[in-house]
Amino acid sequence: MRSIMIIGGGTAGWLAAAFLARALGPREAGGPRITLLESPEIGTIGVGEGAFPTMRSTLQFLGIDETHFIRSTAATFKQGIRFDDWLRAPGTGKRHSYIHPFEPPFYAEGLSLVPYWLQQDPRTRLPFAEAVTIQSRVVQAQLGPKGPGEGDFAGPLRPPKPPSRA
Ligand SMILES: Cc1cc2nc3c(=O)[nH]c(=O)nc-3n(C[C@H](O)[C@H](O)[C@H](O)COP(=O)(O)OP(=O)(O)OC[C@H]3O[C@@H](n4cnc5c(N)ncnc54)[C@H](O)[C@@H]3O)c2cc1C
Repeated sequence: MRSIMIIGGGTAGWLAAAFLARALGPREAGGPRITLLESPEIGTIGVGEGAFPTMRSTLQFLGIDETHFIRSTAATFKQGIRFDDWLRAPGTGKRHSYIHPFEPPFYAEGLSLVPYWLQQDPRTRLPFAEAVTIQSRVVQAQLGPKGPGEGDFAGPLRPPKPPSRA
């Protein structure tokens, strides 16, 4: 393979180009020529400003500094999305809300908690996000987005603030 062309210069196109360039190596080292074609007439969707926490590993692979990337794109990390009242039609008087977490469910010593959650009684078990991730607590505490002055994340969440001195 000597040449790859990617059509479309939105999020998917640019990430694919950067990923392939890194994975297949530079041209001087025998890697393919990678060309990205952007349309001057059709714009990007470009409305997203919050990346998944898993974006960290993509940036690491690409060799892009996380803090530099976040500041340059005025972006942040989303911890999840709260969906309010999607389950029932309006006017039924019943409310429903759930959080879709953006971090894979908690793993400990190679074991996922998900099968254990599935075995529990659906009428009484905790909501999925609450049972198998810490994301919903973070969202409820409004600690989700990364602040502009914060450095690279060491994990999917920002570290707790150090206690203030009296
Ligand atoms: C309201 C809303 C909020 C969102 N919020 C977030 C968020 O917070 N976080 C997040 O990660 N994602 C978010 N998204 C999703 C995210 O914005 C999109 O998934 C992402 O931008 C899609 O990227 P794309 O590369 O597939 O498409 P696009 O960014 O649309 O890029 C498509 C590219 O293809 C080009 N193209 C099209 N046709 C041709 C052609 N015939 N020839 C050549 N080029 C062509 C266009 O010019 C463009 O450059 C949101 C989406 C919406 C609608």
